[in-house]
Amino acid sequence: MENKHSSDAILDNFFAITQSLYKEMSKPDSDASDDHAEIYRLLTDLGRTLVDADRASFWKWDKRNHTLWTTAAVGEGRITIPEGTGLVGKALTEKRAIVTNDPYNCPDFNSSVDKKTGYVTNSILVMPISNCKGEFIGAYQAINKLSGEGFDIEEDVKRLSLAAFICGITLESDSFLEDSLHDKLTELKNRAGFYSDYTKVYEEILKDTSADREVSLIICDIDFFKKVNDTYGHNAGDAVLRHVASMFRANARPGDGIYRWGGEEFLVVLPDTNKAQAIDIAERLRTSVMESVCHFEELNIKVTMSFGLTVLNMDNPIEENIKIADERLYKAKEGGRNRVISE
Ligand code: GH3
Ligand code: MG
Ligand code: MG
Repeated sequence: MENKHSSDAILDNFFAITQSLYKEMSKPDSDASDDHAEIYRLLTDLGRTLVDADRASFWKWDKRNHTLWTTAAVGEGRITIPEGTGLVGKALTEKRAIVTNDPYNCPDFNSSVDKKTGYVTNSILVMPISNCKGEFIGAYQAINKLSGEGFDIEEDVKRLSLAAFICGITLESDSFLEDSLHDKLTELKNRAGFYSDYTKVYEEILKDTSADREVSLIICDIDFFKKVNDTYGHNAGDAVLRHVASMFRANARPGDGIYRWGGEEFLVVLPDTNKAQAIDIAERLRTSVMESVCHFEELNIKVTMSFGLTVLNMDNPIEENIKIADERLYKAKEGGRNRVISE
């Protein structure tokens, strides 16, 4: 009798998935998306096949945002939970695989998805995943063993190890890319991060002919910043840069992009924002910085900033648009600093 859980069937599925993984990897990136969504989906499937589970999910530990979220989950959209919570959080905190074959009586199991969807979870295996340096950066979760009496921590962890290894390398390459798009000091995106968002997000908005959409851009620079360094030292200057970044984060809207453009210069991109609205936001950023105090060691440091603003003209290359904003920033400096110039 043909048994769908037989070793031969598992091996056939295994080879089908590894072949798809290979094809996906060697396919030219057609949409410049450079995300690994399809690879994550296949890896989730691979692990599920290897341990003969009904469902599986693959979790990324987003250390920048202190959350855990699913890069791929069979049967569910993206789930985001605070880091350190749930069975995934526990496996990552304790750096060990966890099996429970009685989840509803397990205090770390979060049953909210089941309550919402009516799915019944009988058994769970969570395997933490590390990068090549041995730092834990994600977790693989298999749900409901289809054969036998639930998961076996020895046997199933062994079966998952290949998928876990590939997951680790994939996550690690993702985080290298993420790091290359961010500035370490302020944790804002950097110049490369801007160009990546420009082609993926902002240019798409400008090309959208279904509606009249505008994108505004602000370039701004801390006034007399050299004096901060000269008076209080470079570490105090660094603290001021972090402080400005936090004021911008607090005063921008969710879809706005904030970038460290270089030294003490920042770029703010405002999607679906016209000139009048952009001026309001620039004024809000300017006043919030002017009225705030950066506390560093025993020091209370105050700075102001100058702003140049433009509405992106899609007939011009982005460099040309930035140049226009930059010329207005220069005018703001010339005109006495601590001001917004939009003409
Ligand atoms: P202005 O009002 O005309 O902009 O004057 P400014 O002093 O702010 O401008 P200037 O370009 O003369 O000086 C910018 C300084 O920013 C010089 C540089 O050492 C400092 N700087 C650049 N990056 C960093 C950084 O990462 N940390 C610190 N502490 N200082 C930085
Ligand atoms: Mg400056
Ligand atoms: Mg400057």
